[in-house]
Amino acid sequence: MNVVCPLCGSEEHVYKISGIVSSGTSQGNSTSTTTAGTFANGHFIPTVGVSNISTIQITTLAQKLYPRLTAPESPKGLGLFTILIIIILLTFGGGFVIFDRAVKLRIGNPFVIGFIAVLILFAISVYLVKKMNVSIKRNSISRYQNEKKIFDEYIKVWLRCYYCQKDDIVFDPQTGEYGHPGMFP
Ligand SMILES: [Zn+2]
Repeated sequence: MNVVCPLCGSEEHVYKISGIVSSGTSQGNSTSTTTAGTFANGHFIPTVGVSNISTIQITTLAQKLYPRLTAPESPKGLGLFTILIIIILLTFGGGFVIFDRAVKLRIGNPFVIGFIAVLILFAISVYLVKKMNVSIKRNSISRYQNEKKIFDEYIKVWLRCYYCQKDDIVFDPQTGEYGHPGMFP
């Protein structure tokens, strides 16, 4: 069961795009010469004078054929630094405001009132940040799951696509859909 290009009907210049990308990416940095070569089992084999496709062309092609979607980042909550900043601002910011009020209103010892305020505000801000973190994480997880579903579907198609060198098209052998490299899939 050989894969045949839906445009030219040939199977001769048809290569799996994942093979081109992996060979193009590994060959790209090490070789700057225009060694000709051919593909076999999804790998690029340099064989001077056999094929007119060069490593430089493959690298460019590999870039074009590279998956256009990137895997979504795993879900994240607030960073430790952000958590600390929020707690410090709420605790000492609020503490200072209450200390200042106590000084102006001349009620009790402003230092004692300010100290108690800082303790209470610290407990409140820890509670608020925890709650905030849970809701942010929940949003992040549902967004991640949506993006992952789209990505998994895309990469499944990408992995089964082939490139026809003759027509310079990428095609999906399962659906027969095709398009230019970099635009499809
Ligand atoms: Zn073709």
